[in-house]
Amino acid sequence: PLSLLRDPTLLKTDALIDGRWVPGSQRFDVFDPATGAKLADVANLGPAEAQQAIAAAEAAWPAWRNQSAKQRSQILRRWFELLLAHQEDLARLMTAEQGKPLAETRGEVAYGASFVEWYAEEAKRVNGETLPQFDQNRRLLVLKQPIGVCAAITPWNFPLAMITRKVAPALAAGCPVIVKPAELTPLTALAAAELALRAGLPPGVLNVLSADSAQSIAIGQVLCASDAVRHLSFTGSTEVGRILMAQCAPTVKKLALELGGNAPFIVFDDADLESAVEGALASKYRNAGQTCVCANRLYVQAGVYEAFLQKFAAKVGTLQVGNGFAEGISIGPLIEPAALDKVQRHLDDAIAQGARLLTGGQRLSALGSGQFFAPTVLADCHAAMLCAREETFGPLAPVFKFHTEADAIAAANATEFGLASYFYSRDVGRIWRVSEALEYGMVGVNVGILATEHVPFGGVKQSGLGREGSHHGIDEYLELKYVCVGDV
Ligand code: ADP
Repeated sequence: PLSLLRDPTLLKTDALIDGRWVPGSQRFDVFDPATGAKLADVANLGPAEAQQAIAAAEAAWPAWRNQSAKQRSQILRRWFELLLAHQEDLARLMTAEQGKPLAETRGEVAYGASFVEWYAEEAKRVNGETLPQFDQNRRLLVLKQPIGVCAAITPWNFPLAMITRKVAPALAAGCPVIVKPAELTPLTALAAAELALRAGLPPGVLNVLSADSAQSIAIGQVLCASDAVRHLSFTGSTEVGRILMAQCAPTVKKLALELGGNAPFIVFDDADLESAVEGALASKYRNAGQTCVCANRLYVQAGVYEAFLQKFAAKVGTLQVGNGFAEGISIGPLIEPAALDKVQRHLDDAIAQGARLLTGGQRLSALGSGQFFAPTVLADCHAAMLCAREETFGPLAPVFKFHTEADAIAAANATEFGLASYFYSRDVGRIWRVSEALEYGMVGVNVGILATEHVPFGGVKQSGLGREGSHHGIDEYLELKYVCVGDV
């Protein structure tokens, strides 16, 4: 699929340090999850190169922070325009290495680029404050200054957007960044970095360290231990988030963590059922269920339970599964064999504990060597099942029956996670009550998809720290400095 790129020079397989493409002394393979075919071999960097990248970023920092906000904004704006101009090639790279259908990867390019556009604009609005004086002889000010060298460790499920959501606000604030992209999807990251260079980003301001899983751990240790790195932003599993948080303790690094979710999706008796079915489809099966905001548990009130199940399962049964490059496909392969195993484990456990299989329920081996799993709906699930407690991260929708609003809220909140949540209701009072009662960073009311660049995305509890996107997102990369001027 990569021979079809309109601009073949976007296929970068070396890493980027200090404005130079670095082949590394070792390489690792990147595969197409739809076919198992090898796509490319990519530079496999390690701790020594991570140190070089930190040194390059440190050296680049003074000149970058001293550029005017408008100059930084203009470079970001050009990067945004180049990302969109190469939308089709970036989408192809992403479908090839990540698997989701082209319609979704085109959407991700637009979404990923939108963070660059937004922070190109926000770069010019980093305003400080003047405060009322407590003494006639003093003047009080608050400056906002870039925090310093930033590191970003990103996942494979959004190979572009999870990078731009971190890198764009950091660059806008005046910080250099070192990105360690997911080992399964480095090609999108490297192509985006090439476009940043074409946009005029100076050497060392953006560095991309590609690495396999073992070297990623080693690079992570170097980034966390470094005194020069002042901020680490991570999106990925809660398990790895905890490791990184512990590794950052000795240097008291500022952290942004966007970790796992266990999103509840509640349908009340008074919901518009057609709309709830559409929302559930979009929320659950986007990216084959591999997003941290995908509905993981569907709670449906007793009065509409059977009607919802019937409509929902009928729609799910029509979803087309296959290679993301083919026409009309809405569900691609899962990213790797372990992802398939997890879906199967959750399914087997639920069936063994009495769940009713309405549609799907098996691996689609006939589609080839890729990890295809039929979109699945289970009814009559309950809290003791694995699918109620863990994020499935696949195309499995467990449906739970509930009776009262209080029961739904209690069940929804009975998890250590708190990222996205959704509910459907037409009752204004209930909309307020439930929105306030859900212990989540984000609540979708009568919608199944809620992310966009100008809203604060993030979680509470063990889903993470900090918010990305919106005018709040840039604060992550700024330090407040209180200046008290005396002798006035
Ligand atoms: P997922 O569950 O999305 O596969 P992971 O949390 O395993 O996510 O990985 C997300 C990112 O974190 C990837 O870039 C991966 O290479 C990196 N990573 C995984 N383990 C570590 C670690 N111990 N130290 C640093 N980075 C890690």
